[in-house]
Amino acid sequence: MIEVKNLVKKYGNHIAVDHLSFTVEDGQIYGFLGPNGAGKSTTMNIMTGYIGATQGEVFIDGHNILTEPELAKRSIGYLPEIPPLYVDMTVLEYLNFAAELKKIKASERKNAVEEAMSLTRLDDVKTRLIRNLSKGYKQRVGLAQAVLGMPDIIILDEPTVGLDPIQIIEIRDLIKELGKKHTVILSSHILSEVSAICDHIMIISHGKLVASDTPENLMQMMKGGHTLELLVKANPTKVREILKVYKTNNIVSQEIQKGEEEGTTAVTICLGEENPDYDIREDLFYLFAENKSPIIMMQLKKASLEEVFMELTGAEEEKQEKKSHRIGLFRKNIEKEAEILVNGDSSPDPEEQEDENNDSDL
Ligand code: ADP
Ligand code: MG
Repeated sequence: MIEVKNLVKKYGNHIAVDHLSFTVEDGQIYGFLGPNGAGKSTTMNIMTGYIGATQGEVFIDGHNILTEPELAKRSIGYLPEIPPLYVDMTVLEYLNFAAELKKIKASERKNAVEEAMSLTRLDDVKTRLIRNLSKGYKQRVGLAQAVLGMPDIIILDEPTVGLDPIQIIEIRDLIKELGKKHTVILSSHILSEVSAICDHIMIISHGKLVASDTPENLMQMMKGGHTLELLVKANPTKVREILKVYKTNNIVSQEIQKGEEEGTTAVTICLGEENPDYDIREDLFYLFAENKSPIIMMQLKKASLEEVFMELTGAEEEKQEKKSHRIGLFRKNIEKEAEILVNGDSSPDPEEQEDENNDSDL
């Protein structure tokens, strides 16, 4: 079991890890999910004793990683973001060397190396120099080093980064295999990867833990549930009147707007969770048909884990902010052009000039 208590890591004024606390139970696959720069590697480096924390404590099976590093590290195997491979050694030489460093007893070393090589399917290349191996094989050597001696906890920092799709599938299968007997913690900025492999997801954003749950529960967390989008061949006033008649407690909110196509209206309905199995699509079909206003498109959109992730990491807000900033600029430019048309050109406003420059990197 791992206990991380109130961890803080500062680089100068920059807070890379911001009061992080969590517990990792035995025998599950955990995923640290977060955008680049979220603080995943920093957290893993502190948990494994690679770097010190500014504040906070880490206990591995009850041993403090700072005050009892030997005991704490004994149960951890770690694959850092950039594995420390000695490329002028053969695979076998390197793994023997790593076994020595890990203080695996001389009598058990041969078995341990063979076990790690067979698990990561390195037997065929064991006499090759690491420098001559492909990226995928190098990654396997890093993994073999991490699983050497079969530690209870295996920590893998972005284990599939830079690999091709076939290698990614192989490494994922290997991680799932490892998860049957070990506690595995892996980090990734790829949502589909974490949700495919992990039993438990911890979403990290700006050094903070913003969610920690099973993939299923995270999807449930998405407020508002599902949305239903309709396109109706009628004007907005008529659509509003038709919908007024329809009474159900399963609609949380609705938005009615003129559709892009002439004579159509777009409706977005947010469905509630009170009566999740009741499908209102059939009701709506008959209701609009009776009113001679055909529904020409109807689509149910389920909340995805992707949306939960975007919402929790603030990515969606940032996107919206940029969008409204752009719309603001667009308006400003139109107003400026209109003014020029009416009053003639005037010297540029320095503030607007700056805004335009900022817009270039949007
Ligand atoms: P992740 O692994 O989630 O991509 P990192 O833990 O590598 O994120 O980085 C978290 C933040 O800390 C980033 O803003 C990064 O620039 C900063 N950072 C990481 N290592 C250092 C360092 N050695 N010196 C200064 N800043 C660092
Ligand atoms: Mg990283």
